[in-house]
Amino acid sequence: MSINSIVEELRKNISAFEKTVQTEEIGSVIEVGDGIARISGLTKCQASEMLEFPNGTFGVALNLEEETIGAVLLGEFKHIKEGDTVKRTGRILSVPVGEELIGRVVNPLGQPIDGGAEIRSKKFYPIEKVAPGVMTREPVSQPVQTGIKSIDAMFPIGRGQRELIIGDRQTGKTAVVVDTIINQKGQNMICVYVAIGQKESKIARMVAKLKETGAMDYTIVVTAGASDPASLLYIAPYAGVAMAEYFMDQGKDVLCIYDDLSKQAWAYREVSLLLRRPPGREAYPGDVFYLHSRLLERACRRNKEAGGGSITALPIIETQAGDVTAYIPTNVISITDGQIFLESDLFYRGIRPAVNVGISVSRVGSAAQIKPMKKVAGKMKLNMAQFRELEAFAQFASDLDPETKKQIDLGQRLVEILKQPQFQPMPVANQLAIIYAVSNGFANDVEVDNVREWEAKLHEFMNQTKSVLLEKIDAGEWDDKVEAELKVAIEEFKKR
Ligand code: ATP
Ligand code: MG
Repeated sequence: MSINSIVEELRKNISAFEKTVQTEEIGSVIEVGDGIARISGLTKCQASEMLEFPNGTFGVALNLEEETIGAVLLGEFKHIKEGDTVKRTGRILSVPVGEELIGRVVNPLGQPIDGGAEIRSKKFYPIEKVAPGVMTREPVSQPVQTGIKSIDAMFPIGRGQRELIIGDRQTGKTAVVVDTIINQKGQNMICVYVAIGQKESKIARMVAKLKETGAMDYTIVVTAGASDPASLLYIAPYAGVAMAEYFMDQGKDVLCIYDDLSKQAWAYREVSLLLRRPPGREAYPGDVFYLHSRLLERACRRNKEAGGGSITALPIIETQAGDVTAYIPTNVISITDGQIFLESDLFYRGIRPAVNVGISVSRVGSAAQIKPMKKVAGKMKLNMAQFRELEAFAQFASDLDPETKKQIDLGQRLVEILKQPQFQPMPVANQLAIIYAVSNGFANDVEVDNVREWEAKLHEFMNQTKSVLLEKIDAGEWDDKVEAELKVAIEEFKKR
């Protein structure tokens, strides 16, 4: 080989050389404790970027300061010490999404914790995302049937709505949403249940119940337990809604439940105080409103041009001594489209679900209510409100004028039929039949104590002999003819 050809060869190689060195920004831990790390050296780090610590522990950059970065650690952090190296990943915190997650119980990072197989999802969604704009949205038009009489009749929820469930401890908040999930069977709905700061044993019991009723076939459970670090409790709802967004992007309807956001706010307060952010009212950081608003904004009904699909949000808030005017409750009330208020007093009196009809409200859902229900249940709320005013007089029943007495009798029977045991969601057509019967005086001659038994018999009768009529009502048919048919059916039942 001549010298020239060697030179030629070298030249070729040099010109073909491409620099493939990748730079990785590496910083080091300067302070660590309580699940928080302060890091120096990561000057280009973005907000909410995932950072990699030794032994595969991840963290999220939350405070971007001039010299240092404050990050929360997600998961085990006892092994991390001063001087450890920290790598940027360049990725905003994301979770795996897709069909693979359905039927699974995962942590807020999308890792399975149900002892099942690894989740091999190829797609990832960032947990923080800008909510869909107004131009891509449309008003709610389809109902979410909760199967709970007092909600479907008086406070109907539409697909894409945000309805708050609020009440003290142990008032049946979780029961309402679990029944709603169970009732979504065959309704073309995917459910995401986010459990925040709950005991692991409670979650296990709930998942067992969902499996037993077949509801896990369309449900994802995301859980950050009471013993998990606050950082995981803080990101859990965002992880849940990211998983929901994947299905919405495919034009599907998703129901997202956050149980509960009070605990998320506490976790966020803890993280913020540890990061030395200035505390504000009730020691919450100034942006605690934004914590919930940016989450709940992501619930929406998309219009056809934007691919359809919806996310309905049912956030839960726990109150102290029924005080809905506290900081976090008022925040979330103002972000949602209504609230279902559950009251301890009613709960202990045996009125379960303990819905307070006076201060509960659903602002947009009636647009999505099926026509028969809208017609029949319309007056019910008014009747209930009047009854509440007169209730105190009920004990002097003999001295009352006939009109008042009638109102009280009706109210007492309505209260009875709104009682509903747990895990027994009711098809909307059956709900309608009983509400129609009682509202129109067909139960006036039934003793108040016997109303529930009478109701059970009516449903049995309707299911066995009037299934065609029930189907019609379920399909939203309602005119004089259908109404007459229902009347005849109830009269026939009464003759037996
Ligand atoms: P926590 O504040 O602890 O989360 P919660 O408000 O979510 O409580 P649940 O756990 O749903 O309340 O219910 C409290 C108790 O009441 C449970 O034992 C549950 O079984 C019972 N319960 C709830 N709803 C009903 C109902 N409709 N009928 C009978 N019992 C009910
Ligand atoms: Mg609960």
